[in-house]
Amino acid sequence: MNDLQPVRGTRDLIGEDFRRHAHVIDTARRVAATYGFDEWSTPIFEDTRVFARTLGDTSDVVTKEMYSFTDRGGESLTLRPEGTAGVCRALVTGGLTQSLPQKVFYAGPMFRYERPQKGRYRQFHQIGCELIGPAEPLADAEAIACGWDILTALGISDETVLELNTLGDKPSRDAYRAALVAYFTAYRDRLSEESLCRLERNPMRILDSKDLGDRALVADAPTITPFLTEAAATFYAKLQEHLSRMGVPYRENPRIVRGLDYYSHTAFEFVTSALGAQGTVMAGGRYDGLVEEMGGPATPAVGWAAGIERLSMLLAASPGVVSPVIVIPVGDGPEAVAIDAVQSLRRAGIRAEIGYRGNLKRRMERANKQGARAVVIIGEDEAARGVAQVKDLASGAQSEVALAELVLKLS
Ligand code: ATP
Ligand code: MG
Repeated sequence: MNDLQPVRGTRDLIGEDFRRHAHVIDTARRVAATYGFDEWSTPIFEDTRVFARTLGDTSDVVTKEMYSFTDRGGESLTLRPEGTAGVCRALVTGGLTQSLPQKVFYAGPMFRYERPQKGRYRQFHQIGCELIGPAEPLADAEAIACGWDILTALGISDETVLELNTLGDKPSRDAYRAALVAYFTAYRDRLSEESLCRLERNPMRILDSKDLGDRALVADAPTITPFLTEAAATFYAKLQEHLSRMGVPYRENPRIVRGLDYYSHTAFEFVTSALGAQGTVMAGGRYDGLVEEMGGPATPAVGWAAGIERLSMLLAASPGVVSPVIVIPVGDGPEAVAIDAVQSLRRAGIRAEIGYRGNLKRRMERANKQGARAVVIIGEDEAARGVAQVKDLASGAQSEVALAELVLKLS
């Protein structure tokens, strides 16, 4: 069986990797709660139409990245490539479209068939926030500020820049699309094959192309600004005003269009130069049309998702481990007393373990290797007298402590 390997693009999270991962989720969950987001958990697989219908049939995700399969009952199912579609599906099928706003936080695995590289996997994990209901730019600002506060709480906001753009409303986009078609049509022969197809079906998608030849053309393409309707321009100006009020720094970048098709008005990314090509750590925008496409009523919404692997890589300091107290019974007699002691420590919320087997010296060495902060030694004599020898491994100080006082001493 030793030919078995983890599936390409998947990773095991063990030790430090898991601690970083958990620290990102714990921190995000705590900060999101201060903004009033409640956590939801939706299934990891959905009816394929949940994604195919909503992410846009020219998006990279739908055209080439989905893990879709037919189950034994003949249904076409897909491992979720992102979280927003499932949250909107749950909103509609759970009858929550009449109970707005809904402020949703989620964390969990996502699946995309991509070429694995640093910061890009086939099973990866996201945290995300969705603010469903409010149509006003204050909601966009709050969603972004929540993301910024999470990056700050993780200690990585200095390394990231918020890049902001607007995709306008539908009339703005229609006018812009025509200008893009005119521009790129003049360079037809220089566009990649994929972008030629986008030119027919969704020209804004060309702005998101990763092809180097395309990117050179994109650099000189028209921006949306002159095509914004007054309403769209006002929305964008308000958003910027709110972000400044909330102390969230940003830089405008008219090239940001996002990889999924469902966005309008706000589009943004938090980017870093510290991760090479995989520089986007958090990304999102306004998606007013999505709930309706899922079969619900027209419902405005805004949100973002962030890649946990990329955030974990940026963490400067290790979240560290809680160092344990090791209880060591010496001889068979004190075992029962040692069990009582270790259980009372645990029930008081202290990380405590039994030092199994070996002579005292070996067990002390093992406690040191485990990074223990203290050892509690209970021999025959201590057990009989209802005491223990407590050694602080940082200072080396040793003292005799009554068993009844152990929790107090080690808290
Ligand atoms: P990219 O341009 O890097 O492919 P994307 O536009 O496909 O990103 P989104 O769908 O917006 O990304 O997902 C939000 C975030 O999730 C990304 O900014 C990134 O941090 C993370 N992410 C996306 N795909 C992957 C992946 N395959 N592996 C690891 N993280 C990912
Ligand atoms: Mg992608």
